[in-house]
Amino acid sequence: MREFELIEEIRTHNRELAACGGAEVLIPPGDDMALVRMAGRRVLIAADQVIGGRHFAAGTPMSLVARKALARNISDIAAMAAVPSCAVATVALPAGMPDADVRALADGLRAAAQELRCPVVGGDVGTHASADAPLVVSVTVLAEPGPTGRVVTRSGARPGDMLCVTGTLGGGWNADGSGSHLSFTPRVAEALALVELLGDRLHAMIDISDGLGRDAGHLAAESGLTAEIDAERLPLAAGADWRAGIGRGEDYELAFACDGAPPDALCGTPVTVVGHFIAGTAGRVLVRAAGAEHDASSLGWEHGS
Ligand SMILES: [Mg+2]
Repeated sequence: MREFELIEEIRTHNRELAACGGAEVLIPPGDDMALVRMAGRRVLIAADQVIGGRHFAAGTPMSLVARKALARNISDIAAMAAVPSCAVATVALPAGMPDADVRALADGLRAAAQELRCPVVGGDVGTHASADAPLVVSVTVLAEPGPTGRVVTRSGARPGDMLCVTGTLGGGWNADGSGSHLSFTPRVAEALALVELLGDRLHAMIDISDGLGRDAGHLAAESGLTAEIDAERLPLAAGADWRAGIGRGEDYELAFACDGAPPDALCGTPVTVVGHFIAGTAGRVLVRAAGAEHDASSLGWEHGS
């Protein structure tokens, strides 16, 4: 079973579970974070992990592994235009991992928590039976709505809306595992500024972790629309071509739908209009490049989530 099919099945069943008691579920599984009401307050929650050999290459410094594990969760907080509260983390260590590496991982998580203003308040450390098993760092984050109280979801784009992105695309993950996925700054401040600036003109948002092709597809699917991307408008990272900009993933920028022109920049981060939404097959993404039109689902993906 493919990863996305499995996630969809889990989401479907968990939506049914949302009514079983406990917190009141305001945004069920299927967005960048869930939103629940607890003790009268709205709280956002999400979990994400990094797996050795999959999300970071062998030889990656432990400090950067730890940072990525926390930062990609905080990118999901940015996608909802929320503010980080705190996190818990679990690690599964390969058997026999050197103490110095374990310490570097713990130090790295602490440093990342400070930098990203999201204290790590608990967790667990376990060890695999095998030395060949990958290092896994899993982080759960809690967040609160920003000053406006607005939480932005993947649904809500309307026909004619512009599709916009922050920063540059295609430089997140290079073939050797290097790239900005080890050093990116989650766009929390940019998302909060966007909500303030655009107000009701901001209709939907997601962070680009799977590649713009897939993530624009999530916005389109949840909004019941088709997205069209103009490859020539993509703000490409140095050395990236449009296929990398659409498909490579790990950019951790924001993609959003808005009515009318977006600001040129947010908190010093450039904003680019790369396409728009139209009525059509829900979740379809069309890419116009060099006079040809491609269905993004046929382009292939170089690196998944
Ligand atoms: Mg996300």
